[in-house]
Amino acid sequence: MKALDQLKETMRRDRVFDFMARSGTHPVHAGKIDTSHGPILYVENINVSFDGFKALNDLTLYIDDGELRCIIGPNGAGKTTMMDVITGKTRPDSGTAYFGQTMDLIRMTEYEIASSGIGRKFQKPTIFPEHTVFENLELAMNMDKGVWASLQFRLTGEQKTRIEEVMQTINLLQQRNTAAGLLSHGQKQWLEIGMLLTQSPRLLLVDEPVAGMTHQEIEHTAELLTSLAGQHSVVVVEHDMDFIRSIAKKVTVLHEGHVLAEGDMDTIQNDPRVIEVYLGE
Ligand code: ADP
Ligand code: MG
Repeated sequence: MKALDQLKETMRRDRVFDFMARSGTHPVHAGKIDTSHGPILYVENINVSFDGFKALNDLTLYIDDGELRCIIGPNGAGKTTMMDVITGKTRPDSGTAYFGQTMDLIRMTEYEIASSGIGRKFQKPTIFPEHTVFENLELAMNMDKGVWASLQFRLTGEQKTRIEEVMQTINLLQQRNTAAGLLSHGQKQWLEIGMLLTQSPRLLLVDEPVAGMTHQEIEHTAELLTSLAGQHSVVVVEHDMDFIRSIAKKVTVLHEGHVLAEGDMDTIQNDPRVIEVYLGE
């Protein structure tokens, strides 16, 4: 019955799973994201206050199409709040955020933002533990059709191929018939990334992906995220500096809701302001 309860939960109108409601054929999806000027994400002069406390303070940053960007910074620097603003969960007091040249994220609902091709991976995976890896990916792919419809739904050849591709990307081909609840912690995280990938998002936001992972799982995650860049734009927030070093191209350091420094890992590590507030801790 637990599985049934889970399915019922997904049918609640007010419940929006992060992998729901996106589809490659959705009218506002892919193709309409104008990246002709380079960036896929424009975040400009964003301010967010909580009871007078400035969680984001004039935050401005740009993510290029196909880029893998790492975001680091001490606890409370505003990293998660930044993702909340991009995904429509938190409304800023002021500032602008655009997906491509034309999609005004501040005016869009969470649902519309997710549908437009921004996928977000939370720390706690929202997988269906009693369903197999394959079924989880199948459900994620067809979630916009409604749960009952998607369970009855027969996959097209193209969709089957896509699920195979995703299972290969997330390194779970051999676990295709394993119940998701039996996967290791790291494998569950990859499955959730896979569930996002079935929707072919253009931009993936990943908050602290390697927390609690084994050394080997961390290495696999580094390979996975690196392989996703190019076809997708990926923004990774993470504390684990060894992990960041292993994947870093361009790194943004946040401090007190503002960009303190930005550049390659060498530049960041040798920046006296960064050493003072963060790396020197
Ligand atoms: P980070 O992810 O970099 O650790 P957060 O974005 O989670 O930082 O938090 C930035 C600051 O804003 C913290 O001081 C946090 O306590 C505060 N904050 C975040 N969300 C809320 C909220 N909903 N209400 C009040 N304060 C919040
Ligand atoms: Mg955080």
